[in-house]
Amino acid sequence: MDLELKGKSALITGGSVGIGLAVARVLAREGVSVAICARDGARAEKEAERIAKEFGVGAVAVATDVSKPGAAESCAAAAEKAFGGIDILVNNAGTGSSETIMEAGDEKWQYYWELHVMAAVRFSRAVVPSMRRRGGGVIINTASICAKQPLGYEPIYNTTKAALVMFGKCLSNELIPHKIRVNTINPGLVLTPDWRKTAGILTAGTDTTVEQYLDKIAKDNAPIGRFASPEELADFYVFMCSPRSSYCVGSAYYVDGGWLKTVE
Ligand code: NDP
Repeated sequence: MDLELKGKSALITGGSVGIGLAVARVLAREGVSVAICARDGARAEKEAERIAKEFGVGAVAVATDVSKPGAAESCAAAAEKAFGGIDILVNNAGTGSSETIMEAGDEKWQYYWELHVMAAVRFSRAVVPSMRRRGGGVIINTASICAKQPLGYEPIYNTTKAALVMFGKCLSNELIPHKIRVNTINPGLVLTPDWRKTAGILTAGTDTTVEQYLDKIAKDNAPIGRFASPEELADFYVFMCSPRSSYCVGSAYYVDGGWLKTVE
């Protein structure tokens, strides 16, 4: 299938590792120039260079903390300067939390609100003028299965990701008259380096290996019995970025190996 993406340009937050990097690489494979942003500029720079060399597309890195005001404008400006405009935005930067509601202070709630919701608000505001000039665009938000089916140890994550899904729906209604499609993707278990690191910490000094630990999590939760690779998730993102998914508007799509226990 020709995804009709060649020559487009994309801005991906949290594009330096894990899901965001996989999305950037698969978009680049389809001929899309990519701007990736993350706090660790050196890592983002290294991946951008690798993408440019491997796929022969434009690739730039921006070192920024997306939870801070001003980040969206500087990233959008860098992408516009490099590629002349932006066709695709993937609001992906984010991370899990661990707390109880009774013990977490306001600052923690505020941080995750800025990271998961306000970043998506600000990046969307920053790129839409460019998309409108180009006659349309695509915005994808990475939320999580936890937006619908909460995990007990991360109420702040669950709550802010649920808010992101609703933001996506509202934004979609506002932007579809301008031919900008907004959708949200809710992944389940995706095997990123961060998951391996956590498993390493939790199994250190025990008889359980990292592989055994991860295997048990997958078998206990996802009917498919395994984690997704970032790459197999990224293929879905790229379809959603493509004009081939032109009637997909304002929805939240689960890519979770059957983990969601209800019918959506
Ligand atoms: P990783 O930790 O592997 O990557 C996160 C990316 O976001 C990195 O590029 C990181 O770079 C960047 N990032 C994190 N915080 C900030 C910040 N404040 N400002 C700018 N960049 C930031 O995460 P995943 O790939 O696992 O997750 C990506 C998204 O997918 C997240 O939103 C996560 O909630 C969601 N998700 C993940 C699942 C999974 O199983 N992996 C399941 C469901 C949802 P740096 O550290 O340099 O800033």
